[in-house]
Amino acid sequence: MRLSLILPPVQPEVYPEVVGCPYAGCGGRHVQHWQTVPKPLRDTVLSEVAAQRYRCVRCGRTFRVYPSGVNHDQTSARLKGVAIMFYVLGMSYGAVAIALAALGWPLSKVAVYYAVQEAGAAVAGLRREAVTRGGGRVVGLGADLTSVRCAGQWLTVGVSVDAVRGTALSIDILPNGEAATLSAWVQEVASLLGAELLVSDDADGFKTAADESGLPHQVCKTHVGRNTEAWVAAIIPALAVDADGSLAGVGVDPGQAVADAQALRRLMAERQPTAEASAALESIHRRYLAAAKPPAGGTMSLAYRLRLFSLDRWNLWPRLTRYRSWEGPDGETLDGTNNACERAIGWWVKERYRSMRGYKRPESVLNVSRLIAAMGNALDGPGFPLAEVIA
Ligand SMILES: [Zn+2]
Repeated sequence: MRLSLILPPVQPEVYPEVVGCPYAGCGGRHVQHWQTVPKPLRDTVLSEVAAQRYRCVRCGRTFRVYPSGVNHDQTSARLKGVAIMFYVLGMSYGAVAIALAALGWPLSKVAVYYAVQEAGAAVAGLRREAVTRGGGRVVGLGADLTSVRCAGQWLTVGVSVDAVRGTALSIDILPNGEAATLSAWVQEVASLLGAELLVSDDADGFKTAADESGLPHQVCKTHVGRNTEAWVAAIIPALAVDADGSLAGVGVDPGQAVADAQALRRLMAERQPTAEASAALESIHRRYLAAAKPPAGGTMSLAYRLRLFSLDRWNLWPRLTRYRSWEGPDGETLDGTNNACERAIGWWVKERYRSMRGYKRPESVLNVSRLIAAMGNALDGPGFPLAEVIA
């Protein structure tokens, strides 16, 4: 995980402009300076700042104005920023409190917890109902699921990314990973963004989601390549000797079956979107059409497994090769993988999570993951300004 953070500055000489009485219902525009009072501060540099008291001419009540980086709280935004930074870098809430005390800036574990949670809750966007385009149009939507442990249960977390730029768009808890849920989620996010294509792994739920959303679909070439490789390597020894006699049953020579499995592996690795490749897949599949489905509870024969696998890959073919020809309205292209999503899950959702025993509240899952993802999205610029999420 790379992070680049900008701590909120404390500027003891800089005060916000006073525009009128802050009390609800008064609306007084004229205020007078009343007195300057010292305010003790927990901060990495200052131990005290000056608060300015004003009095409203209309209602007579007084109020305080604090310098930049300070509010009514005893702790400066800068020290909260350090606490958040330590937490995000991997320390527990308690460890952050210990480290800060050792540095001479004591802050309780509870205060560290609230600083982190409030910052996470203040992250703009990264919610499914309010996805933002991060400075441009999102034409390729990448989506994936992960799960985290929370209060003794597994939560399904849906992550969406801009598949072209690689930035995180949303992190949400979904009720489950079922096709209907994925479909509703993908449709909601895609329509908010005006996305024109979905990128995902080869889970069936995402195929359904793409079809029901009317979105062209790219299935991650790396996933399919890996699955195909493993499937072919595992079945070839049995095919070579027609281990269950099922190849003889459909009149296919073992040498032909091995060649077919190898051809499937080659086609999936090359992904040439040609008529020849598609025809080759079809002819492999047709060779095993006579293989019988096993009776209920029975095991699948070699020939039947080849029949199913070749059908699956043949059906998958358009989704596997779409990136070769797809181009967005501004010439955007895709690399055919769902790596941006996997990175978002690995870095922004899972890396911090690995050193924990699980979350206690679903809100914490979202607050912490969104906070880290927002920091990650800012990596290309000067850094993530923590002042934006610290009250
Ligand atoms: Zn007033």
